[in-house]
Formats: sequence, structure tokens, C-alpha cells
Amino acid sequence: MNPTPELKKRAARILRGLKKRYPDARCELNFETSLQLAVAAILSAQCTDKRVNQVTPTLFRKYHSARDYAQVSQGELEKDIHSTGFFRNKANHIRALGKVLDEKFQGQLPEVFDTLVTLPGIGRKTANVLMIAAFNQPGITVDTHCKRLAGRLGLTQHSDPTRIEMDLRAIYPPRDWIQLSHCMVFHGRYCCHARKPDCPDCPVASLCPSRTSVKTPLPRRS
Ligand code: SF4
Repeated sequence: MNPTPELKKRAARILRGLKKRYPDARCELNFETSLQLAVAAILSAQCTDKRVNQVTPTLFRKYHSARDYAQVSQGELEKDIHSTGFFRNKANHIRALGKVLDEKFQGQLPEVFDTLVTLPGIGRKTANVLMIAAFNQPGITVDTHCKRLAGRLGLTQHSDPTRIEMDLRAIYPPRDWIQLSHCMVFHGRYCCHARKPDCPDCPVASLCPSRTSVKTPLPRRS
């Protein structure tokens, strides 16, 4: 997409409105190292950050290095992460990631997006989360919230996350990407809900082509 100047202007105003509403927007997964964030991000698939944050303190006390994850048995790791759902796949990914990091990257996550996406369990979304939250580098995370909001706000015509990411990259300058990612997630979580967006309380409603009008109840006849 080649964004028009009008779209860029509206998009900038949207971000200003969201930043004002969510000045402390940040990654809500708890972590101290990039490896911990990678593991937490893998666990967050089809699971809430809240649930992941309940599981990771014990997990991170037990496993410290990529090699720890590489060496644990599939069954034991499945038990450790069971409550996050899809535990077989997730345990597979985490063990495979630990093995590759241990064997090829001295146990460290590379700070290069194009390398991150080649690692087991790391797609574009997780790679962008890592770039943003662990390495403080520009990235745009298109999760379920960002996907929904970008469409509702008329910032994209696409439904494919990669196409949405490319549209947002074209609209916003890289200096805005980190804040944009965090604000989109917060707005999706706390206001622009999937089923019932809270348009009357939305800070960017005047800029949103999908806003629902506030219906004033008719006065009752006496
Ligand atoms: S106006 Fe409504 S649909 Fe549009 S971004 Fe705000 S909450 Fe979402």
C-alpha cells in the first residue's frame, strides 16, 4: 500500500490519541532475559498473558539456559507448561529452540529479525515482540488485537498479518512502531473489544470509520 498524505495524517492523530490514553503501554509478559521472553511468547499462543505470567516464575526458576530447555524431556516440559494449552506443540517448539540456540548461537537469541524468524517456534509476530521488548528495536507486532484494530481503524484492507504489518510499516515511521504496537494491544484489550467495542469511551472514535453510534434511549411515554 502507498498511503496517502491524508491517511498518514489521520494515522498519526490516532497514535497520538492512543498514546495519551495508554502512556504506560508495554509488553505485559513478565521476563528478564530475551530467552525468557521468547519462551513466554511461545507459551502465549492461544493463551492469555495473565495465565502465562502465572506459569513462568516456576518455569524460569527451573530452566535458566537454552541448554536446559534442550535437555529436558518432552514429557516433563509438557507437565510444566500444561496449563497454557497446546502444551505438546509448545514443548516441542521450546525444546527445539533451546537446541538450536545451544548448538548454533552460543545459547543467545540473535538480535537480527531475519535470523529470529528462522528459529523453531518463532514467527514474525514473536520475532517482532523480541525486537521491540527485548532488544528495543523497531518492530510492529500484529497479534489478534492489532489485526482487528488496524481493520476497524481503516489502516489496512488486508486480513493477512504480514500484509497488515507491511501496511502499518508504510504508514508510520520506524520511530513510532514500538509505541504503536503496544498501544494497539492495549486498546484492543481494554476498549476496542472483539465482540463489543466500547466506542463511546474510545479516545480515537472521531477518527474511526467503524465507530458505532451511541444510541440515546427514547423517552418513555407516560
Ligand atoms: S471507535 Fe469503536 S471500533 Fe473504532 S477504534 Fe474506537 S472502540 Fe474500536
